[in-house]
Order: sequence, then structure tokens, then C-alpha cells
Amino acid sequence: MRILVVEDDKTLAAQLRDALERAGFSVDVEHDGQAAAFAGSTEQYDAAVLDLGLPLLDGLSVLREWREAGQQWPVLILTARNRWSDKLAGFNAGADDYLTKPFILDEVVLRLRAMLRRVSGSANTVLEAGPLEYDVTAGRFRLHGQPLTLTAQEHKILAYMMHHPNRVLSRAEISEHVYARDLDPDSNTLDVLIGRIRRKLGQPQLLVTERGQGFRMCSDAAAPPARTTQ
Ligand code: CA
Repeated sequence: MRILVVEDDKTLAAQLRDALERAGFSVDVEHDGQAAAFAGSTEQYDAAVLDLGLPLLDGLSVLREWREAGQQWPVLILTARNRWSDKLAGFNAGADDYLTKPFILDEVVLRLRAMLRRVSGSANTVLEAGPLEYDVTAGRFRLHGQPLTLTAQEHKILAYMMHHPNRVLSRAEISEHVYARDLDPDSNTLDVLIGRIRRKLGQPQLLVTERGQGFRMCSDAAAPPARTTQ
């Protein structure tokens, strides 16, 4: 999942980037309101963390521009202010959640995961696809109840697919939501990574290739009967 972080305090921005990347997100950072308004209106993100007090254009105006551009992804507002009127203005401008500085970095991660889960329409903190489970809060996969070991890139791809089950996802869409700006691999790399994920899942019906279109995660794929060992 790809997150846009907008924060003019460069130290805090770097801390947010580190914390979110460690949590398995891809992160783009902007330090002023104009750059943020442009990035959010033109790039594909899954969520944003937005400071209110920004140079060039304030955070609420940035948020309004994103919403006017039709961007629906959830936005977590960060602010040093703790006045009710500011909070109300934030929600009216289309914010989904609110965090007052100073905050604990882990709380940003938790709130982002909760927002992303709500967007995917699940009330559950564990997303399921047949024998595969993704614990959104912990950021961990299990297959048949056992921990599934994935590389960082494989994890990002599978997490995005688990949030968008039963829909054909094009290679371009997956790349846009899994890689930070300017880091898109060629589509061949994505195919290789998805091939590796499928081998680790060991169940072709879970992650289906739609020829000429992309890939589909099947949340209702039935688990095959457990293999008996002799
Ligand atoms: Ca600020």
C-alpha cells in the first residue's frame, strides 16, 4: 500500500517515512502544500498523512484540492493544534481521522491500517482468502494457520491484493500502489514476484492470472483437501 506523507518538519517527515516503511508501506514525502496538492491529485495512493500547517498552501486547502480532483483515499490529519474548530474543519474538508502532535509513531501506523481496512469494506482485522489470512493490525500473513515468510516486495504486493479481493488488478495498478514514485520496476519484475508469491501460496486458484488483464485474488477460493502424509 502506498502512502503520501505531507509534513514540512523534515525530521518528523523522515521519522514518519521510516516508521511507515518498516511497517511495510511504500512512502512518498512532500514538504509543502503546493507539491502535496499536485502529487495527491496526479498519483495513485492508498492513504495520506497530512500536516495542517504547511508552507505555500495549508493542509485543509490541500485536502480540498485532492477531494475536488476526485481522490477518495483516506486521509489522516496531523496537527499541533488541538482545538475543536480545527478538527471540525478537517472533517468537513474530507479528513477521515485526526492525530494531535506530539504522537507516537506506532499510532500513525495503527490508524493507517484501520483506515485502509475500513476502505476495503472489512470490519474484521484479519482479511481472509481461503486458507490465507492477513492480520492487518500486525501486518502478518498466515497460510493454513502457519506464518508465511515473504520478502518485503512480495509482502507489499500480496497486502494490496488482499485489500482488493475478487477484482482484476492490472499490472499498472499494482505497481502504482506498491512502489513509491520513480521506483516502478518493469512489468516483467512484477510477474516474477507474483510468480514467487504463487509458489509460496502453493494454490493456483487463490491468485489467478487473467490473461492480458492482470491478476485477481480470490477470497472465496476453497482450500483443497489437506494432503495426507504417509
Ligand atoms: Ca507543519
